[in-house]
Amino acid sequence: MAKSSTIFVCSNCGNESPKWFGKCPACNEWNTCYEEKQTVSKNGEKAPKREAKTTLLNDIKKQDIARSSTGFEELDRVLGGGLVKGSLTLLGRRTRYWEIYFNSTNM
Ligand SMILES: [Zn+2]
Repeated sequence: MAKSSTIFVCSNCGNESPKWFGKCPACNEWNTCYEEKQTVSKNGEKAPKREAKTTLLNDIKKQDIARSSTGFEELDRVLGGGLVKGSLTLLGRRTRYWEIYFNSTNM
């Protein structure tokens, strides 16, 4: 049987905390904290925390839908030609996440 626990994640930088925070200790942004359910399977293995984000970016790379340029040539290439409409806002505020993602794809 799986049990779930709740963690709190900063929507700006992705910082995780077991407790609610009004101001993110990592990026010092206010009111960016949101609640995220975390499922722990019976063997104690934690489910991937950022599964949704990873899937989203992978989908962007696979799907052949209209893309808009990010203005960064390298990022456009990483994303398979540009950002899909709607995800631009998501990535826009996540400069740090963007950098982490970009670096990891160059490994
Ligand atoms: Zn933060």
